[in-house]
Amino acid sequence: SVPASIASALSTGARRGLLLKGGAVIEAAARTDLVTFDKTGTLTVGRPAVTDVWVADGDEARVLALAAGVEAGSSHPLAEAVLAHAESLGVSYEAGRDARAIPGRGVEARVGGETVFVGSPRHAEEEGAMTALARSRIEALEAEGKTVAAVFRAGALSGVIALRDEPREDAATAMQELKALGVRTMMLTGDNARTAEAIAGRLSMEYRAELLPDDKVSAIRELTGRNTVMMVGDGINDAPALATANVGVAMGSGTDVALESADGALLRNRVGDVAGMVRLARATMANIH
Ligand code: ADP
Ligand code: MG
Repeated sequence: SVPASIASALSTGARRGLLLKGGAVIEAAARTDLVTFDKTGTLTVGRPAVTDVWVADGDEARVLALAAGVEAGSSHPLAEAVLAHAESLGVSYEAGRDARAIPGRGVEARVGGETVFVGSPRHAEEEGAMTALARSRIEALEAEGKTVAAVFRAGALSGVIALRDEPREDAATAMQELKALGVRTMMLTGDNARTAEAIAGRLSMEYRAELLPDDKVSAIRELTGRNTVMMVGDGINDAPALATANVGVAMGSGTDVALESADGALLRNRVGDVAGMVRLARATMANIH
């Protein structure tokens, strides 16, 4: 019977670390023809590390001290990486005050009597703190798949910090498996287009870049007009996107907020389990009809 098939699928899923919150979710998962993924912490390991520091003004220690002061007030994965790098080099810094996150753009704080920003190069452009020389350096770093954070004060760039966050080991195979099931795959990221293209290229998937948190929601709303869309994500920022997709799936290591707003979860924290979830849902629906 239908309830028995659903119950059996739910328990089979649970044994394999695939949490599906009920029959309607299984039905939508079976119809999924497009899976969208958050980048940081979902397609990538989520532990970025600093690879390069480029100085525009002062020296490397000064750039890192300013950046660390601001990042001390942020919980973003990039913040942790900048702090770890500064500490590993023995750079001493003054923790900033009144830190404020600017969603999808970066963070600002008061350091040494002035407001200092650490954020996307696009944000630095908008704030009039970019130079032609820095721009060409940033483009080269981004083409290597690195994420770049600009460190700047009102109208003046201090330097740029490049970070690399490696794709998860199973990410490329996961995209191939979904493709074999006839399912399209797309990365949605707040990162810039060059970095996104480099990483999406390695994983052979589509991408949309430079999306602010609200843009991710609009993108999914647009995509659900033509497709049955599964969204896989892990961060607090992803909760609205998870709720907007036909099926929102949280990575098991994600935040409680993401887990609550999701229709399902990958408890083993493996992006490769997405294909398994679609397969289980399809097999279940085939049994019912
Ligand atoms: P993603 O969609 O990849 O998770 P986010 O929306 O979290 O990206 O961030 C988008 C961009 O904003 C980052 O690539 C980075 O350039 C910038 N950014 C956001 N928060 C920070 C921060 N705390 N420190 C430095 N840069 C940040
Ligand atoms: Mg994020």
